[in-house]
Amino acid sequence: MAETKEKKYIPPVDFGRQTQIEHIEYSRDVVHRYSPSIRRLFNLGLTYVEDVEKQVRDEGKRALWCGPPWAMPLVYAADYLPLEYGELARLSDVDAISIAENHFQMPAEVCSMVKATVGELYKRRNSGIDKIFSMGNTCEPFNQAWEVLKDEGYDIYNGEIVFRAPGVDGERYEKILRFFLKEIESFYCWMTGARDVNKEKLFIELQRRNRIMTKIKTIMELRVPHPFYVRSLAVMYLLNGLNNYLGKPDEFEDVLDGLIDELLARGDSSEDRDRVIPLVWSGGSGQEFGVYEAVDEANGALLGFVAIAPYDKLFNLEIDPVESLARWQLDSRGAGASVYMRRALEEKIDEIGAKGLIQYGFIGCSQHGVAREMFRDYFHQKGIPSINIEGTFQVGPPSGQVLTRINAFIEMLA
Ligand code: SF4
Repeated sequence: MAETKEKKYIPPVDFGRQTQIEHIEYSRDVVHRYSPSIRRLFNLGLTYVEDVEKQVRDEGKRALWCGPPWAMPLVYAADYLPLEYGELARLSDVDAISIAENHFQMPAEVCSMVKATVGELYKRRNSGIDKIFSMGNTCEPFNQAWEVLKDEGYDIYNGEIVFRAPGVDGERYEKILRFFLKEIESFYCWMTGARDVNKEKLFIELQRRNRIMTKIKTIMELRVPHPFYVRSLAVMYLLNGLNNYLGKPDEFEDVLDGLIDELLARGDSSEDRDRVIPLVWSGGSGQEFGVYEAVDEANGALLGFVAIAPYDKLFNLEIDPVESLARWQLDSRGAGASVYMRRALEEKIDEIGAKGLIQYGFIGCSQHGVAREMFRDYFHQKGIPSINIEGTFQVGPPSGQVLTRINAFIEMLA
């Protein structure tokens, strides 16, 4: 007779760490104390924003606040350092949220990512970095945020995003492509004053991005037999670095090389493979870092990530670099319709043999919430358990409810 496994309730863990910075320091100094490369990675993350601000202040470098991952090679090619405004969350605090709600009169239910970003940018309005690039017009709260920040002295380019609906191919695709190419040129002109994109520099940046993606893909593959060597928060920082190179691209690449060497040195044997619960994570990179500790504590390992920016799709270096940039985005999972994202999720689940899917989003997100629910139903019907977690984008511990749900979900998979 089959034995019935008793379901055990695991209470939420009190990690004793309240802020993102405390979580990063703990992961660097305690969890990953054996890995020089991961320690360096966290140091890059911890100093990213302040370091770029310092380079602008002391060395006369140029920087701008920037969101879309596809734009980073172009920003570097224009001799700007990109400051990804998502990283502002790490610095954020209740003051930023309070500025958004009181100074800018944003309703309490507005997505915390928008409020944290607006509040932090308000505090930094005299930092010497006054340019913001966004493709925010699919996110209405961000559109409103850019409007109010103009009054605070920011020079904002809010691009017209191209949206690839399901089945858009052939001439319709080419039409969107032509529109997007004009948008890219116009953005470049806004940054530099030049009408023509410096294609030689852009080509070099696309080569660099391809190198970085290839190295991250290698790390993700080498992690499979050693799932606990690079824990969840460290993986998240690898992917954050993929988006922006954490302000020091050469150093970031060096960290990736070092981590590949560390993983190779561990060989093929893996005593961890039998006890790991392989998971796919999708959506935002989350700002409640206790969630990652909860995954680690329960022997889960985020072996597959499906975020907007892929690490397994290279730029085509055989065609015009500007066109390559545009096609990369239009052919990506973040091109528009949610079906592209769903396919990417399916592929990743199959690739790593995932036992479950964690979808992370922010409370109040008017844009992605519906898609996440649709994905949950879709994968449920295919027999893949999934959980939707809604969190916030500000400093502070995750709610007990979030941790309880993560624990219960992974325990169920086990
Ligand atoms: S989480 Fe949703 S509402 Fe918030 S900024 Fe992103 S798209 Fe906009």
